[in-house]
Amino acid sequence: MTQAQREKLKQKLLELHAELTGKTPAKIEPNRTDESRVGGDEDEQPLNEMLQTIASSRNRNSDIVLQRVVKALGKLRDDPDSFGECEECGDEIPFGRMEAMPYVEFCVNCQSKRDAPKSGRRRHLTDYK
Ligand SMILES: [Zn+2]
Repeated sequence: MTQAQREKLKQKLLELHAELTGKTPAKIEPNRTDESRVGGDEDEQPLNEMLQTIASSRNRNSDIVLQRVVKALGKLRDDPDSFGECEECGDEIPFGRMEAMPYVEFCVNCQSKRDAPKSGRRRHLTDYK
């Protein structure tokens, strides 16, 4: 991977990071403790709790991506030469794949092995003849 390519992916990762930690997903507002509004707001508290529950379940998927984004950024900083290499086999991950998912950790081969069902061996097409 060239320096320019790495720089491009780094930008993408930083954008993703900003997106995941910032504007989306639904910002969780802290419960209001505004002194000028004490009293008369008894209905507000349960609503806040409900909104926080919704926000946190919506955030769960992006949390996983965020972890990977953070990991990828750490790798770029600490070990830039290994960035873009499959963590399983060490092959270089095609740039197109990195561009689509700059936080990706495995090449297509290793990813599909990992995604394969764990029970039993993979059937070959010939098994069905
Ligand atoms: Zn691999």
